[in-house]
Amino acid sequence: MKDYDMIIIGSGIAGLYTALKGSEFKKKVKIITKTSLQECNTKYAQGGIAAAIDPMDNFENHVEDTLKAGAGLCDKEAVDILITNAVDRIVDLINYGVMFDTVNGVISLGREGAHSFSRVLHAGGDSTGAIIEQTLSKKIKDYDIDVSENTYVGEIIVENKKAVGIKAYNKINGKKEEFYGSAIVLATGGAGELFYYNTTPEVATGDGVSLAWNAGAVIADMEFFQFHPTALKHPKVPPFLISEAVRGEGAILRNSKMEAFMKNYHPMAELAPRDIVSRAIVTEISKSNEDHVYLDLTHIPPERVISRFPTIYRTCKSIGIDISKDLIPVAPAAHFMIGGVKTNTWGETTLENLYACGEVASTGVHGANRLASNSLLEGIVFGKRIAERTMLGYSWSKQKYDYEDITKIKEIEKNVNESNEYSVEDLQKTMWKNVGIIRDGNMLKEAIKKIYSWKLANDKLDDKIYTELYHMLNVAYLMAISAYLRTESRGSHYRTDYPETKEEWNGRHTYLVKGE
Ligand SMILES: Cc1cc2nc3c(=O)[nH]c(=O)nc-3n(C[C@H](O)[C@H](O)[C@H](O)COP(=O)(O)OP(=O)(O)OC[C@H]3O[C@@H](n4cnc5c(N)ncnc54)[C@H](O)[C@@H]3O)c2cc1C
Repeated sequence: MKDYDMIIIGSGIAGLYTALKGSEFKKKVKIITKTSLQECNTKYAQGGIAAAIDPMDNFENHVEDTLKAGAGLCDKEAVDILITNAVDRIVDLINYGVMFDTVNGVISLGREGAHSFSRVLHAGGDSTGAIIEQTLSKKIKDYDIDVSENTYVGEIIVENKKAVGIKAYNKINGKKEEFYGSAIVLATGGAGELFYYNTTPEVATGDGVSLAWNAGAVIADMEFFQFHPTALKHPKVPPFLISEAVRGEGAILRNSKMEAFMKNYHPMAELAPRDIVSRAIVTEISKSNEDHVYLDLTHIPPERVISRFPTIYRTCKSIGIDISKDLIPVAPAAHFMIGGVKTNTWGETTLENLYACGEVASTGVHGANRLASNSLLEGIVFGKRIAERTMLGYSWSKQKYDYEDITKIKEIEKNVNESNEYSVEDLQKTMWKNVGIIRDGNMLKEAIKKIYSWKLANDKLDDKIYTELYHMLNVAYLMAISAYLRTESRGSHYRTDYPETKEEWNGRHTYLVKGE
């Protein structure tokens, strides 16, 4: 029984765009999303979407910057596909109605960390994601696409080693539902909510990784998680992202002594890769009596600050900070899941008929660290390829990966007993402290033991698959064990007991599959 040609889980940029493309092939498409159609990470993206469209810039520069940020772990073929398709996919967004900002009729380009050129298209100043999300969700209504909001997907149905459908819980009428489809697409976004301090919305609990893991698909590189260096740190509000584009406009990071410290850490200073800026901030905070450093825009003309960053200006103003005159207190926060469900360049996972795109996927474009503003792009480039691949009737290609040996992890778990003493907050605090910006083997071991003991208890509950906590525990477990297994530092993964990048880990990924 097949209800749909394509069932898409998630309604961020990746889910909405893939649905539109699938529907243009005259196929029957369904979107299922756990809250409202527009609630997702995409809505909060500020900086924009990267493409080498400046006449001085070119694909090669963008590829090189992406590979450099990825610290030796990017898949070059996937990066080439990402970057050479960028302009066509951005034209698609424009055709759907997204209005990027222009100056004198020319698209205006922002600069972000680790980019060698200004190449970030933005909309509404710093409301790029909100404008994309509004435009695509409006477009969905013009198409013949079936949408279920407030519906939580808790399991992928697998038959004869193929994904054939999903089990969901309708939060409005309380009913459990099953839907069957030829292609199941995970577009469930990231997992910032696993960490106590994060820039992400509450829906970002990593469900897609757990769904794929339970279904038997390969999960890759979960030790790589990006912490954004500059989230607003203020007792009155949760961490709110202060986009890297702000530093791209010339904002300076200052410590408690008002020193501009970034030049002591990297030649690109404020525009160094995110992991370097985040660790520099943690180091500066540890030398002071404060829990933040400062971002200084006071030397930039106020009109420029207000017109370029209206959302940041308004948000800060609401708590009494005028960013054109006052310093902004900032600290790092969890931001972007780099690892995820392993896919090839057609978005195919290792389970037949299961696809993944957007932040949940590990396509290989980010390597060990994501280049800013490549992620909105990733969602549409690989979403398009999934629509083409599935709708044009190509057969699934088998992939083979060398899984990590997890004997060391089994040793750690040996005498651990189940514990009911847990909550989402306990998990978030453990992840922040033990699996956060700066890690070490003992802290990771402690995290593995705790999470495993909580998983033992949680796994016994009925209906657990329809709770976020169950999926968060799975994802946290995969992150902690991957971080423990990678005995080196690289990109966003930094361990004080293995501070060097090791040659033996060059090009080596952390592949995990349930039961192996
Ligand atoms: C504050 C912020 C600023 C950012 N700025 C930028 C930027 O400037 N440029 C850039 O490129 N990237 C940026 N990013 C990252 C980027 O926004 C995300 O990587 C991207 O939007 C992810 O899109 P997505 O479609 O994969 O997932 P999302 O947009 O997160 O959508 C995921 C969807 O899946 C649904 N879902 C999840 N689990 C389930 C389930 N079990 N059942 C049903 N539905 C489910 C969610 O409800 C949601 O609708 C930013 C992120 C944040 C948080």
